Amino acid sequence: MSDAPVLPGDDSASWQEDAGRDLVRSFGERMALFVRGEGSYVWDDGGRRHLDFLAGIAVDALGHAHPAFVDAVSRQAATLAHVSNYFATPPQLALAARLKRLAGTGPSGRVYFGNSGAEANEAAFKLARLHGGPDRTRILTLHGGFHGRTMGTLAMTAKPALQADFLPMVPGVEHIPATVAALEAAMDDRVAALVVEPIQGEAGVVELPEGYLQAARELTTRHGALLIVDEIQTGAGRTGEWFAFQHAGITPDAITVAKGIGGGFPIGALITFGAASDLFYPGTHGSTFGGNALGTAVAGAVLAEIEDAGLLDNARRRGEQLRAEICGIGSPLVAGVRGQGLLLGVALRHPVAKAVVAAAQEHGLIVNAPNDDTIRLVPPLTIGDTEVGEFVELFTASLATVASSLLLEDAATAAKGVPA
Ligand SMILES: *Cc1c(COP(=O)(O)O)cnc(C)c1O
Repeated sequence: MSDAPVLPGDDSASWQEDAGRDLVRSFGERMALFVRGEGSYVWDDGGRRHLDFLAGIAVDALGHAHPAFVDAVSRQAATLAHVSNYFATPPQLALAARLKRLAGTGPSGRVYFGNSGAEANEAAFKLARLHGGPDRTRILTLHGGFHGRTMGTLAMTAKPALQADFLPMVPGVEHIPATVAALEAAMDDRVAALVVEPIQGEAGVVELPEGYLQAARELTTRHGALLIVDEIQTGAGRTGEWFAFQHAGITPDAITVAKGIGGGFPIGALITFGAASDLFYPGTHGSTFGGNALGTAVAGAVLAEIEDAGLLDNARRRGEQLRAEICGIGSPLVAGVRGQGLLLGVALRHPVAKAVVAAAQEHGLIVNAPNDDTIRLVPPLTIGDTEVGEFVELFTASLATVASSLLLEDAATAAKGVPA
């Protein structure tokens, strides 16, 4: 790591001013100005190197500036970028075929391309409406789930705090606890679809109860509802399978993907299986940018590299290695590690996740806090021994910084005679 200090000179003052004045206020204050990336590292405007274990929120599957990514963007930009959905292009057809193969749809599967996770889930919402028609309008999603920020996907996102300013929500969506019993109680013949994440990333890397997806498959089939799996965070090899539903050995009616499949290029998709593939018909959905030659060429190259470099296996192995290493740190702050492959949540014993993120930032490590007591780790799928070793060193230091500040605070509180 570079030891170059970050000096609050004119430049850094001005980018923070620019950001504060010009960017939408729906995000918090930006933590740094990043100017360059390579592999698992990014460099800020002060020349300081940071180890990136957030990877743009599970997006940069190959890390930064990977040759396969750079080559695909450059070549396709110089060949043909966009022609609209009045026409097909070779990279689009190749990516659709690849996604069908990786998802295991068989010949009857189909792919709808959008440009983000929310767009993929909006397409899934419309798929559910097409399936249900006017009499089967209930759409079930799970407590703690996250499906996006657009109006349809916000309705699917069971977070009252995110919805409060934007009521009324799109009707028909109901949120249920993530238990088989709750699903059994909620299911009837008016349910059009159940939409679930195999692991709830935004909720703090929370896994479904054992056997949930199998039970969900059985119950949705019995009641004629679609089972739609939101693989936006879990897909593209992150959990050690191409898609996390594959660990459960079920066949869903549809999955949604985005984040990692483009490796940093904005692209999302809805992949349908079997009869669900016949629901959309001409005129029922579309997107100007969706599935353009540039985006599909890049996603195709990213998925090919994940496959050729054996990154599913790497995600599995590095995930296990990280889990063991984190438990081995022996920090009094760490309660355990949740998740699968390289989608990990470090559970903290105290609600100090934001302090840990800030300490990590000081130490040159990028991680994030999906809630007050979880640190989420979603590094590039390409990480090796070097990155794991460096992570352990920096994370140990970050935890120690926060642990010691907690003890100091405790001592100060005790000194003032305030009961703990
Ligand atoms: C990130 C995410 C989304 C939303 O994707 P955007 O590209 O931000 O619209 C939806 N579902 C899940 C599970 C996600 O992790």
